[in-house]
Amino acid sequence: MKVGIAMMSHETNTFSPVITDLDRFSGGRPEPLSGEAALETYRNTASCLGGFIKVATERGADIVHGIAAAAAPSGRAENDAYEYICENITTLSARVDGLLLVLHGAMATRKYDDGEGELLRRIRQLHPDLPICVALDMHANVTSTMVSNCDVLAGYHSYPHIDMDSTAERAANIFFNWLEGKCKPVMKWATAPMLPHVMRQGTDDFPNKQLQQRAIELEDSSCLAVSFFTGFPHADIHDAGVSAVVITDGDQDHAKNCADELLDFAWQERSHFVYQAEELPVSLDRARQARENEGSGPVIILDHYDNTASGGTMDTTEVLAAVINAKLEDVAVFGFYDPDAVEQMIRAGVGATVTVELGGKLPMPALDTQSKPLKLTGEVKLISNGKFKARVAMSRGLTINMGLSAVLSVGTIDIAIISRHIEPYDPECFRALGMEPTQRSYLMLKSRIHYRVGFKPIAKAIIECAGCGVCTSDYNQLVFESVRRPIYPLDHAESGHNTSRDEFINLQS
Ligand SMILES: [Zn+2]
Repeated sequence: MKVGIAMMSHETNTFSPVITDLDRFSGGRPEPLSGEAALETYRNTASCLGGFIKVATERGADIVHGIAAAAAPSGRAENDAYEYICENITTLSARVDGLLLVLHGAMATRKYDDGEGELLRRIRQLHPDLPICVALDMHANVTSTMVSNCDVLAGYHSYPHIDMDSTAERAANIFFNWLEGKCKPVMKWATAPMLPHVMRQGTDDFPNKQLQQRAIELEDSSCLAVSFFTGFPHADIHDAGVSAVVITDGDQDHAKNCADELLDFAWQERSHFVYQAEELPVSLDRARQARENEGSGPVIILDHYDNTASGGTMDTTEVLAAVINAKLEDVAVFGFYDPDAVEQMIRAGVGATVTVELGGKLPMPALDTQSKPLKLTGEVKLISNGKFKARVAMSRGLTINMGLSAVLSVGTIDIAIISRHIEPYDPECFRALGMEPTQRSYLMLKSRIHYRVGFKPIAKAIIECAGCGVCTSDYNQLVFESVRRPIYPLDHAESGHNTSRDEFINLQS
């Protein structure tokens, strides 16, 4: 059997000004990987493609690798980039007997709110009988178009996403078992009118921890795949929010009941999905106190309003300015996206003293506030090509490309400045730039939840700091125009705690 494998992965923050063009999908290469180069790059890595390649190989399939296009989260994808990727995948579809697709599930383009649904619809239209299997991110905003145009669909159980490979393996095994006549997958999809804050979606925490554990229990007992999707709220599209997809072996009613069980629990515990931010000065006071407490390891200052892996500009300066004003000492910062500052530092050379206008450069018209550049004078400590091998469970084995990078030392504060957006979840991002994170008093990270995979084990304390950015946890800072209404917590005034999902929808309409 000839099986096609391809990836089109993007989480779109429709409030983000960061451009999503083909270059962003290419990861610093002239174009996205495909063919043998993609196979060699992703084989044996902790990625969805790695999982698909493993199972397809085990099942003796003849693999035809199409495009492997993944862009860090940002604004709506440019139409030409989207069409380029879609055409590659629809062309691949004509050459194979089955398709294994890595999609994110919250991709919006300039033209389409549901990028994945549109891709799957096109493939189905061209090849109505082609079996299609899809692996999705937990932050997928799943749509009926997606579900009705594929045969097997599964999402992650962990956030941070340390189970990308095993999710793809689960989906692919169902897919091959079906094609070998060993099961008859039936799929049910249902949604709840909720937009959980990303800061409350981690699977170390109640209630998503319990929801994912229950999904796994159901998979182990009576279902083939059970996926609870927290959704991605920074997407002002109709279908943003929570959903569940359950696959059983031929039992439609059971699939529906299991999806409802998860959604009812999520709905009942909806207030726990709401994040309460505190004032920045209060957070920095707590950081200083935490440093004085017993225990070893750095205190993490989490600049979570400006998180790359949710579409942040990675250049807002409010938290760094507050760290400097608070006179915190021995801080390593990861990081700032500012290619101009990197260029200036490269021109000056290692050891030179430079004055840079750091960050605050990308306009954020979706917000009422705008970050400003921070004028800093310091020493160019290091210059790097910005590449390192990931070592943590998320994307282990893949080379991460930060682009040309430099470290600016301002007193005892070392700031990583990079030219390609990446999320700091692997401590290697510091080590690649000559900093040992375990030896510092404070680490300032532009991250929300993914930092936990590599930094939580070494941290003495974690202080969440509300700065400025398009990943704000304050929905009042954003204007939602297209998301389905009513939706919690945007519309919650009249609903009591015991209001059911259906009552809530009826109450508000
Ligand atoms: Zn995600």
